[in-house]
Amino acid sequence: MREFSEARNWVQFHDPKSLVLALVGEVGELAELFQWLPADQAQALASDPKLKQRAGEEISDVFLYLLRLADELGIDLSQAANQKMSASEERFAISDVHGQAPLKS
Ligand SMILES: [Mg+2]
Repeated sequence: MREFSEARNWVQFHDPKSLVLALVGEVGELAELFQWLPADQAQALASDPKLKQRAGEEISDVFLYLLRLADELGIDLSQAANQKMSASEERFAISDVHGQAPLKS
């Protein structure tokens, strides 16, 4: 993603604020695909090949902007995600939360 951006001289536009806004815009495009699906039919409708294709495209846009943002901030996304998962494993012990939605504390 960095090479793609550098080759096009787009890195000059990739300050953290602009990347966050681009990321939010792509999340909005992803949400738009699902926003009016009836909740009780959403799972079945989401397996429609055309919707699945579009969802894959928007999820990719989200992922790529997230990756670019992490790169710009000097964050190793893989390492940060692994640390976050380890913290969540400790915070939400299976015996305490199994089958329960996590509550905000
Ligand atoms: Mg998009």
